[in-house]
Amino acid sequence: MLITKLKSQQELDRYFDKRVFIFKCYGCSEIYFPEEEVNKLIKEKNEKITGLVEIDYLCNEDFAKKYIEKNTDEIQNAKGIIVFSCGVGVQVVAKIFEKSMVVPGCDTFYLNGFQGLTVLDCDCNQCGQCYLNYTGGVCPITSCAKSLLNGPCGGAKNRKCEVNPEIDCGWILIYERLKKINKESILKEKNYFVRDFEKIIKGI
Ligand code: SF4
Ligand code: SF4
Repeated sequence: MLITKLKSQQELDRYFDKRVFIFKCYGCSEIYFPEEEVNKLIKEKNEKITGLVEIDYLCNEDFAKKYIEKNTDEIQNAKGIIVFSCGVGVQVVAKIFEKSMVVPGCDTFYLNGFQGLTVLDCDCNQCGQCYLNYTGGVCPITSCAKSLLNGPCGGAKNRKCEVNPEIDCGWILIYERLKKINKESILKEKNYFVRDFEKIIKGI
């Protein structure tokens, strides 16, 4: 289970400095999804929005693709995609739109129990401070074996992680993804992240 909370107003205002397409997921809303706040924001920023998809369980990639096919024009007219969901939903959309900037509208917090319908191609550790807006939609917590936030440890060999050679190095994936959308400069602008461990509420 999880809780999602809206990102800060400052962060959200930055997202809307261009025309955007919106995804809104209701999948885990029985726990807590800031629906009223999201709806208010969408109303306020209406002029900047090219289209909106509301969906149950965005974490189900095949299901999400069906909705997306119906909105191809609006999505292509946008300069970015904002996803109001847990971190898995954002990663699923980023995977489908690999040439678009996809950013999280929410931070995802942990609650005990089952999370969504994902087959776990994308995973979210519910860290309470979503970084996907800086990493091109690739989660640094779950794709890096050490959950590093400041870039690669330098141990990767032939793209593979030094801790788990079965997986690609998460930070190589982040760099490649940012390069694909011409946003690798983000890593220079925001060259460190500080993790606020108080936001991890595991065990409540
Ligand atoms: S950074 Fe990763 S673990 Fe944290 S909320 Fe985003 S997707 Fe989940
Ligand atoms: S090799 Fe890459 S994925 Fe593995 S721990 Fe180092 S930075 Fe993380």
